[in-house]
Amino acid sequence: MKKITVIGTGYVGLVSGTSFADIGNEVICCDIDSNKIEKLKQGFIPIYEPGLEEVVKKNTQLGRLSFTTDIPGAIRSSDIIYIAVGTPMSVTGAADLRFVTEAAKTIGQHLNDYKVVVNKSTVPVGTGKLVQRMIQSHLSNPHVTFDVVSNPEFLREGSALKDCMNMERAVIGATSEKAASIIAELHKPFNTEIVITTLESAEMIKYASNAFLATKISFINAVANICERVGADVTEVSRGMGLDSRIGSRFLNAGIGYGGSCFPKDTHALVHIAESAGYDFHLMKSVIRTNDQQRLVVVDKVKEVLGSLRGRTIAVLGLAFKPNTDDMRDAPSLQIIPALLREGAKIKAYDPIAAKEAVVHFGDQIEYVEEPYDTILNADAALILTEWEQVVSMDPKQMRKLMNMPVVIDGRNIFSPKTMQENGFIYHSIGRPPIH
Ligand code: NAD
Repeated sequence: MKKITVIGTGYVGLVSGTSFADIGNEVICCDIDSNKIEKLKQGFIPIYEPGLEEVVKKNTQLGRLSFTTDIPGAIRSSDIIYIAVGTPMSVTGAADLRFVTEAAKTIGQHLNDYKVVVNKSTVPVGTGKLVQRMIQSHLSNPHVTFDVVSNPEFLREGSALKDCMNMERAVIGATSEKAASIIAELHKPFNTEIVITTLESAEMIKYASNAFLATKISFINAVANICERVGADVTEVSRGMGLDSRIGSRFLNAGIGYGGSCFPKDTHALVHIAESAGYDFHLMKSVIRTNDQQRLVVVDKVKEVLGSLRGRTIAVLGLAFKPNTDDMRDAPSLQIIPALLREGAKIKAYDPIAAKEAVVHFGDQIEYVEEPYDTILNADAALILTEWEQVVSMDPKQMRKLMNMPVVIDGRNIFSPKTMQENGFIYHSIGRPPIH
């Protein structure tokens, strides 16, 4: 059993802290956001993440998981300190490290004996060493020793707890063997592949992994755009490609591009890391440009069918960047909806979970509807942006009866073109022949 402090109780800190508690450790999750900590103390989970509430509750009741804003106290009482604060994109595209350095400073000031400081935030190569220097230069007790480890996180929002509990690998980058073995030992109950590397390699593994997945998405989207022009069907193409084990079928679904709090910022950050190291990563720049353009493909498609959008009612089904999350950070809807509004369209939007978050972005510029069928009632077109189960399970026959015009633009390829044709729809999807 280890005593662990996790600094930053967001998607990653809360989920990984809960996972460490669930395998028997004593974990204190801390945050500077007192609202968040207060809610957690009262048993309320500030983010939407399936299955998390019960496991948080169980471990809190067992006394293995607690929440505090007293970060100094938590630091002093732990053996291992995880940094899991945000590393958002700055205006230059580089990762903004201000929360990481602030956390490192606090750790230095309150370090009372040997501890392993672990960086779980996604950070540019070299940050481990920077954290080491920051802690060293803020030590109030100069005799105390510590080690810094990089242990990046690979969980996906929407299945974060499951991903953490069943991690496919634990990457542990360290300069000290002692620290690496402490963190490897901590991961033993997860029964996973342990990859021990240098600090720099661990930091790079995280960016390279996200950048590779983003590349796969932009690649299949570019292929989809070609398919549309040559009369091929991208779903057949990706199935045919994905059966090749060298390629694999995952992340080969054409759509409106990637979004969320990680891929957009991490791809930009990697371009920036490369640039700082004197390498022009033009491949990644193209991946980003392809993704930016892909988001607006659905707007072009709806204009192609309806002509002017002025005064038209468009039903937007799904606002989050993917199902099972309330995270609206860099969701494609944040570009698509303003583009529709600029064209003069009236928007009725549905999202079972993220609508609350969307209000922050769109205010009363759009109408929020609580039920998918009510959203399409009297609409001139429906745009599918997120493949929520509530949307995937909609019945085209019933949809047809409710809509003013039978126009569906499917940004996630959730419906069968044949079914849509049988129900009399004008149906455009991504990379598949349109139904007129
Ligand atoms: P988040 O914004 O949800 O949470 C970060 C938390 O850190 C916030 O609650 C904030 O109040 C807190 N914080 C900031 N400064 C602090 C400080 N000095 N002391 C204490 N708390 C502080 O972020 P997130 O989505 O959990 O991401 C955290 C890191 O993990 C990022 O680097 C991200 O790139 C990486 N990551 C995220 C995901 C994901 O799916 N969200 C997956 C893998 C890796």
